[in-house]
Amino acid sequence: MGRRIHLISTDFDGTLVAHDNDPVLDPSCIELIGALQHAGALWAINTGRSVELLESGLLDFEFPIRPDFILTSERDVFRPSRNGGKWEPFGDWNDRCAQAHAELFDSAQSVLVEIIDFVNRKTKARVIYLGTFAEGVVASSEEEMDRITEFIERVRKRQPEFNYQRNTIYLRFCHADYHKGAALAELSRLITVPREGIFAAGDHHNDVSMLDGRFAAMPACPANAIDHVKDAVRLAGGYVAEREYGAGVHEALLHFTQN
Ligand SMILES: [Mg+2]
Repeated sequence: MGRRIHLISTDFDGTLVAHDNDPVLDPSCIELIGALQHAGALWAINTGRSVELLESGLLDFEFPIRPDFILTSERDVFRPSRNGGKWEPFGDWNDRCAQAHAELFDSAQSVLVEIIDFVNRKTKARVIYLGTFAEGVVASSEEEMDRITEFIERVRKRQPEFNYQRNTIYLRFCHADYHKGAALAELSRLITVPREGIFAAGDHHNDVSMLDGRFAAMPACPANAIDHVKDAVRLAGGYVAEREYGAGVHEALLHFTQN
């Protein structure tokens, strides 16, 4: 007897989208997500991309289906717009999230300055700014990003609410209470789909918060996921696929719905 999936939360890059593959999307995966949507399941893309970058991704990779919700920048929750435009904030979560971040970056100035100083003086990485505001870091290699996150782990001890989301060589500063898992939990609350009905799939560090079993009872990852993710998924009783990217997501969806 398979389980019923009511909400699907998938990462985008490296999970549904295999940038180096041809085709980039696995047709059987997209077809199955579409069929599950047709049968009443809701599909959310849970990504580090901004709304604009996700929209351009959906267009560039010619997605034949549309997500019901998008969870962007590893923290914000959007639903389809009710009055023109494509997406609108769902509830007051995004406002609360922005407020928490404004307060955090205000109070964590010294931690942030120390990190920026380390990045500029000790690495070839680059701080990414949004206006005058330091949003994150892009490193020149995974090894370099390992060194940067080790440094951040040390300095954030004095300000534990200061955290980061890492995805390959990219890193975004954030409040410790906001991540993909928290955004998924908020969506699940808003649409009243309990944890038991939620499937989630991702491949990198920034996906662990939605794959550790706290917010989705059916966590999964494709074979290309990093070991940290595979370990988290196994520990949560989830499914580590044998196939990569979308083919792995397809395999995981079948695992939960057919076993
Ligand atoms: Mg990814």
